[in-house]
Amino acid sequence: MDPLPPELESNTATDTTRKAFSVHVERIPEIQEARLALPVVAEEQKIMEAIHNNDVVVVWGSTGSGKTTQVPQFLYEAGYGAPDGPTPGLIGVTQPRRVAAVSMAKRVGDELGDAGSKVSYQIRFEASKNAQTTIKFMTDGVLLREISQDFALTKYSAIVIDEAHERSVNTDILIGMLSRIVDLRAEMARKDPKNKPLKLIIMSATLRISDFTENQRLFRHSVPPLIKAEGRQYSVTNHFSRRTNRDYVEEAFHKICKGHRKLPRGGMLVFLTGQSEIAQLAKRLKQTFDSTQGKVIKSAPVRISAAEAPLEVEDIELGGDIDNYQNDDGSDDDSIIHGLDDEDDREFDIGEESAEDSVLKVHILPLYSQLPTNQQLRVFEPPPDGSRLIVLATNVAETSLTIPGIRYVFDCGRAKEKKYDRITGVQSFEVGWISKASANQRAGRAGRTGPGHCYRLYSSAVFERDFEEYAYPEISRTPLEGVVLQLKSMGAPVVNFPFPTPPDRDSLQKAEKLLSYLGAISLDGKITKMGYELSLYPLNPRFARMLVMGTVHKVAAETIALVAALSVPEIIIPENKLGLKEPPPNTSEIRTEEDNIEAAERSRLRKQYNAVQAQLSTNASTSDCIKLNNAVCAYAHADSPEEFCEKMFLNSKALHEASQLRSQLTTIVRTHRPLALGGYEPKLPPPTEHVLNVLKQICAAGFIDQVAMRADLAPIPPDLPRKPRTAIEVPYLTLFASHVSGSVASDPAEQYVYIHPSSLLALVPVSKLPGFVIYSHLQRAAPSAINGAKTPKTRMHALTPITRPQLANIALGT
Ligand code: ADP
Ligand code: MG
Repeated sequence: MDPLPPELESNTATDTTRKAFSVHVERIPEIQEARLALPVVAEEQKIMEAIHNNDVVVVWGSTGSGKTTQVPQFLYEAGYGAPDGPTPGLIGVTQPRRVAAVSMAKRVGDELGDAGSKVSYQIRFEASKNAQTTIKFMTDGVLLREISQDFALTKYSAIVIDEAHERSVNTDILIGMLSRIVDLRAEMARKDPKNKPLKLIIMSATLRISDFTENQRLFRHSVPPLIKAEGRQYSVTNHFSRRTNRDYVEEAFHKICKGHRKLPRGGMLVFLTGQSEIAQLAKRLKQTFDSTQGKVIKSAPVRISAAEAPLEVEDIELGGDIDNYQNDDGSDDDSIIHGLDDEDDREFDIGEESAEDSVLKVHILPLYSQLPTNQQLRVFEPPPDGSRLIVLATNVAETSLTIPGIRYVFDCGRAKEKKYDRITGVQSFEVGWISKASANQRAGRAGRTGPGHCYRLYSSAVFERDFEEYAYPEISRTPLEGVVLQLKSMGAPVVNFPFPTPPDRDSLQKAEKLLSYLGAISLDGKITKMGYELSLYPLNPRFARMLVMGTVHKVAAETIALVAALSVPEIIIPENKLGLKEPPPNTSEIRTEEDNIEAAERSRLRKQYNAVQAQLSTNASTSDCIKLNNAVCAYAHADSPEEFCEKMFLNSKALHEASQLRSQLTTIVRTHRPLALGGYEPKLPPPTEHVLNVLKQICAAGFIDQVAMRADLAPIPPDLPRKPRTAIEVPYLTLFASHVSGSVASDPAEQYVYIHPSSLLALVPVSKLPGFVIYSHLQRAAPSAINGAKTPKTRMHALTPITRPQLANIALGT
């Protein structure tokens, strides 16, 4: 352990009685044995001593070293949380992901044997907490809400912030808050020994923790000690691809097939970016190999299109990587056998048609956050005898979950992440390159049980040139109105808040401006009564404002459904994700009977899709927001929700979440505006014309700063681009909030925004397009590296038309 700086002593409330107190745990022998192999367990004494002697401690250990499962147990055994011990408060453990909160609670419960019932979890819509709970796993958002109800967190004796390296906004805010809460609790303990200090343990899988430890605004009294639990990590050989295929799912398929035929036994872990890619790849692998879960007989029209891989990467590398593509240490003889690039075939003469019979069965398991928990936990079970485990995962498997028995990692090098342009305010969910640190974490997953191999589905030149060293903290790429409102509602300073990485001033100002539009803060920046009310809802402040308006206008139940519809991502599955597009003509293959059947099937599905869209849009009269609302309301009426979603091309996970959100919001509205709602009735009658009008106005008011006007209506019309032929070519100009950096765009074409092709307005004739629309977000396609010359268009999503008088009403606040 690093020597403690002397000033530590003064600030620390050491409790000598605690050392004497401990709780005995009886574990089953296999569990006990597995624990002893974990590096974190080897450091138990150091870790606990540091915690006894300091209020804030940082624990570093590479992924899989035992931080998440073991540190809470150390605390438990040392008597934290014991009702009759010296520190009776709960042990709280936060996770940025719901998956991890649930599965880790279960694992720690199992490890604790008879004491297992003392472990529970709490996530947004679900809790397993009971009277016995001593260790509580939760998402970071849950703890933030608790802070707003009890700032001193008096029911806790210790808080563990896990995965701090991920730097989620909530984690950053929590660490900032907790730095003050720890001081407060130390002060309370000094005044009255009945009060106990709060212990804060920050855990990270990377050593990039200077933002926490060396940040003097954060921990003002002393630098928290760092305990390292150096893991036994076997060597992992990285094999870069010669070229970077932009269709990385295709590339993964190809390499996995080859790998499965060639490589010695050992589990495979494949990193992709999302659920649909995982499903498609799983299907293809099951079609190709004998699977423990049965072979897929009929091949449905599955084609992994380039649309799934919107990244533009160059086909021809900039040179310099041909020599080092093979592996990164260049010395491992083994690597030749393990290389999977085409060239290797010649040496070993293993053709694609090597005898199938001698090939192991595959045991394919998906792993992503939306997957039900019991299915997620299957990755921890050994695969059936005589099969190879192949886990297809998103970056959930990067640091939160460690899967046993993985020897081979296939890394697409990308992840889906929220992007936010600070200057323009344009937010998007895009597939982009991960950081070098993440790529190394992913590779490391192959070296837990023995030497491993990582197949990087991109070239070393791309890795060197395009990958950042570390991912930026989320706070630097997200809108801040929610954060600012939350801080203000807790009475915390905003500008001087001890952020681990302070967000830039412009973003904070933008957030304040929006909050004042919404009436949540006054002109001098103070939170208003409305602001307090808005902060009660687990919603973006815009949506909370819409909800309050709905209660005022006596359409509370309907507005709850509407904001639930707007708050969950992607309710309607976009056409391009269904693989309904015709594949590009394949000249090298003769069109078979099967191809014809597939084409007929595709065209049938396309027709069905269009019919469903029309059905969902009845009464929406060109408001995409109302269309989403229709989907949510119809879902509540469905007898069999799963079947309904299947038939209507709707995302069942999103709708399930929306329905949970509806009941949660109903509870809050009932508490704070008891007269606004009757009994909870998720099955709403079809809205009347009047209700629809009110809902549209509420949308408009919630997005008051997001109005766009047809460019030809501008008082001084700018130079208009060529005459548009279709709705999606018609240029609009944003009012109030300019989406263009500065006031003048460098390229005049950049100041325009356009209707997204999935919008109902895209079907309207140009001459009938509304003069004003409100949009819920703007999206800009990732700039293309190849045709960088052409600026991609910025498109508006989830539109609602609005009239000039309505606009005036809203602006006047009526
Ligand atoms: P860290 O938090 O440092 O990444 P963990 O505490 O999550 O490490 O994991 C420690 C070990 O426990 C790993 O080897 C992992 O495979 C194992 N483990 C975690 N959860 C389970 C589970 N549900 N079943 C079996 N093993 C598990
Ligand atoms: Mg962990």
